[in-house]
Amino acid sequence: MEKKYIVAFDQGTTSTRAIIFDKKGGIVSISQKELKQHYPKSGWVEHDANDIIKDQLEAFEKVMLETGINPSEIASIGITNQRETTVVWDKNTGEPIHKAIVWLDKRTTPICEELKALGLETYVNENTGLIIDSYFSGTKLKWILDEVPGSRERAEAGELLFGTIDSWLIYKLTKGKKHLTDHSNASRTMIYNIKTLAWDEKILKAMNIPSSMLPHVQESSSNFGNLNFKGIEIPIYGVAGDQQAALFGQGGHQPGMAKNTYGTGCFLLLNTGTDHLVSKNGLLTTLACSIENEKPNYALEGSIFIGGASIQWLRDQLNLINQAEETEVICKSIPPLEDLYIVPAFAGLGAPYWDAKAKGAIHGITLDIGKKELTKATVEAMAYQTKDVINAMLEDSGSSIISLKVDGGASANNYLMQFQSDILNVEVDRPKMLEVTALGAAFLAGIKAGFWTLDSIEEVRERETLFSPIMTQQAREAKYNGWLNAVERTKSK
Ligand code: ADP
Repeated sequence: MEKKYIVAFDQGTTSTRAIIFDKKGGIVSISQKELKQHYPKSGWVEHDANDIIKDQLEAFEKVMLETGINPSEIASIGITNQRETTVVWDKNTGEPIHKAIVWLDKRTTPICEELKALGLETYVNENTGLIIDSYFSGTKLKWILDEVPGSRERAEAGELLFGTIDSWLIYKLTKGKKHLTDHSNASRTMIYNIKTLAWDEKILKAMNIPSSMLPHVQESSSNFGNLNFKGIEIPIYGVAGDQQAALFGQGGHQPGMAKNTYGTGCFLLLNTGTDHLVSKNGLLTTLACSIENEKPNYALEGSIFIGGASIQWLRDQLNLINQAEETEVICKSIPPLEDLYIVPAFAGLGAPYWDAKAKGAIHGITLDIGKKELTKATVEAMAYQTKDVINAMLEDSGSSIISLKVDGGASANNYLMQFQSDILNVEVDRPKMLEVTALGAAFLAGIKAGFWTLDSIEEVRERETLFSPIMTQQAREAKYNGWLNAVERTKSK
């Protein structure tokens, strides 16, 4: 039968989805299941890995049933997943030996302190692109080997396997035939050397992790085995961690391409090309999605703790608005602000300031400042924070930025997008289809299947609006300097 569709499996922290895309990149059908969260102790977050594979297969069956699509019409499957979450399972039974430890989980902070005491900080940063933090998989894997009785011996005897969620799904979908991961997921484990593109012996030794339990790492767009669905073999041809998949889905496979996801927090990635860079500003270096027969590109990654969350604060704590969407009308209804800044350091100041003790502040209040002005200053803070991170990325990479591709809930705000373009002096490009993470996984799978080419995906990702800078350079500089002053006054010391 003619291959008409690509399916994306989008396994996120709170939900698991299956999405069918047609050749134009349009969504034919989506099915979603909420994922049960387990909080056994304060600071601990777990998922049941068996729930994850069950939900994924159920979501897939549901979209197939609803659409009546024949499995032989599917060219391939692409997987995108919550990153860093760690699973260890028995090679013979396929059963996890512990619940999956989720990226948010903080239980391994003491292990991180031990690694720092061993003097590994610089080595880890230069070779994995990451900082030593409980966020990444390595210390979660060590914790399981330390805490589950007999597990280290079993791992040494080759009986246990480790994987991030992509590896776990591939293993189960291929009935235990494939134990694989891709460059983008491997680069979030803190045990993968992104310079040599191999598991890092020195870090593995420091954590006493046997290399026999690690998956083979390959290109994000390559052959990960088949899912046999109702007697039909469907190849899995794409795999990527969610943020890198979003960059790819935004057409960000070339150096100089950046994307920002404006969600509760903001996630920024800049493709910096094939040269490995170490950030001087506390940003992470990570591997972007890779394609067969091409050298992988690196990306700098930065996040903003409080993005859309500050709009929720306006709504829920200050009662200045009823709905996030109102902020756009309010921003447009008043003249440009003069020297009013809200620095939403509600969780400290992140990149490039790294001041955990800082608290949020409002600067420049005068008698004429009211609800609308405060709302507008909160929206604008998202754009200023984005510029701070992008400036840090540009300083680290010494390159320039071609355009900023945007997605996430708050990217719907036209005032914010125009202001972002003005403050950055860069074009801001919003796609028609905001499901860029799933689309990225579909692109990877579709390229390997010959369904799309790297060139044709440019057309598949359709632009909805291009915001071009209209602010004068003088106004831009004055406003941004005002912001930098406000940040300076917000620092804890
Ligand atoms: P997440 O995936 O982190 O849950 P979403 O991508 O769904 O986030 O975006 C939701 C966030 O975007 C919320 O914090 C909300 O306050 C903010 N938001 C949604 N719509 C708008 C808007 N029109 N203007 C500003 N912020 C918005």
